[in-house]
Amino acid sequence: MLDPGVAIATSALMSFVLLGLLGSLLRSGKAGIAEWFGANLAVVLALPMILLRGTIPDSVSVVVANVLLALGGAAYYAGCARFLGRRPYWPILLAGVTAVGVAVIYWRYAVDSIPMRVFSTTLFSAAFCTALAWMLVRHAPAGRPTYPYRVTAVIALTFGACQLARGTYFLTLDTASTPSMFATAGSVLLLVIAAAIMPILSMSAMLMVHDALLADAHDAANRDFLTGALSRQGFEALARRYVDRVQMQARPLSLLVLDLDHFKRINDTLGHAGGDTVLRAFVQMAQAQLRPTDALGRIGGEEFALLLPETDLDGAMQLAERLRKAAAGQTVTIGAQVCRYSLSGGVAAWLHGESFDRLSARADHALYDAKHQGRNRICAAHVAQAA
Ligand code: GH3
Ligand code: MG
Ligand code: MG
Repeated sequence: MLDPGVAIATSALMSFVLLGLLGSLLRSGKAGIAEWFGANLAVVLALPMILLRGTIPDSVSVVVANVLLALGGAAYYAGCARFLGRRPYWPILLAGVTAVGVAVIYWRYAVDSIPMRVFSTTLFSAAFCTALAWMLVRHAPAGRPTYPYRVTAVIALTFGACQLARGTYFLTLDTASTPSMFATAGSVLLLVIAAAIMPILSMSAMLMVHDALLADAHDAANRDFLTGALSRQGFEALARRYVDRVQMQARPLSLLVLDLDHFKRINDTLGHAGGDTVLRAFVQMAQAQLRPTDALGRIGGEEFALLLPETDLDGAMQLAERLRKAAAGQTVTIGAQVCRYSLSGGVAAWLHGESFDRLSARADHALYDAKHQGRNRICAAHVAQAA
């Protein structure tokens, strides 16, 4: 038969180890880890109090321990909310913790009832687990693998159901408080599961942090540090994937190559740092005009490329003209100086069966035409250039 004491002590030990692991992740700067650390700390403090029930006063082993466990649940939820970039709603969480405290005090000192105490605490954790699962499923980061979030949600829901079963079981018992109420095999099993909630949820939290750090590493390799646009490597990888996809679906796709005009002069007048500011200002302006599915990459010093899915030549020309006019009208302030700049562009619409390299060469050709025709203009690639 399972020994609840051993299970609780094991959970306390696991939470202690996880405290160290989460502590080491604090340096990653990811939001939510401090709250998860606090949640484990609350559990590490509460579980020994529960183990010492009967030896230490009930005010500690019943009231303080249960409030600490509820606080741990609230902190874990808040950690997930912050990790997902959402508000933790601490006032609501603390109201829940206070309700647990009041219920435990009432069912210990006004009416001494173990079933009601267990019911109120398990009701809180079932509600916390359900809210947690809901938030994780609804707000998992887009564009990344969803399994760390779905796994955590399933774990939370399973725990929530077990807690509800445990609370409901206790409600069916006689209200006279005797510790033997805990002794049935089913009840002990549910208690052991309850004791494992925080260590297992903390491991899930670490899985989520791991996913976020991997996404950061991927982003660092594929993003241009100066402007925040995709790097050449990131852009080309994405563009080749898109071209492979349209080969099968035969959907419109266009490529726009942009080059800032006389950028050497800008550097000469405003210094390299001033030139950098212009590059950042251009990317910020361009990104504000793009659809979420468009991709902007910095493919050279002052040369950019835009991949436009579901866009034919006319649509791409319109966008390119809009960007050209916006750039020509933009003023960039650098210290006491104001800089104006312009850009030239070449547009090519994907032709059936064409490779990305061929599409890119046609857009480059069109850019070359724009430069030769006097700059601050957009030229379209001719289909004949495909050959
Ligand atoms: P054009 O109109 O023909 O494109 O003339 P341009 O001066 O813009 O073109 P060119 O290719 O001759 O020079 C590009 C300049 O861009 C030279 C280089 O120093 C500058 N550049 C490249 N990368 C960076 C960067 O990261 N920051 C800054 N500030 N300048 C850069
Ligand atoms: Mg240039
Ligand atoms: Mg250039």
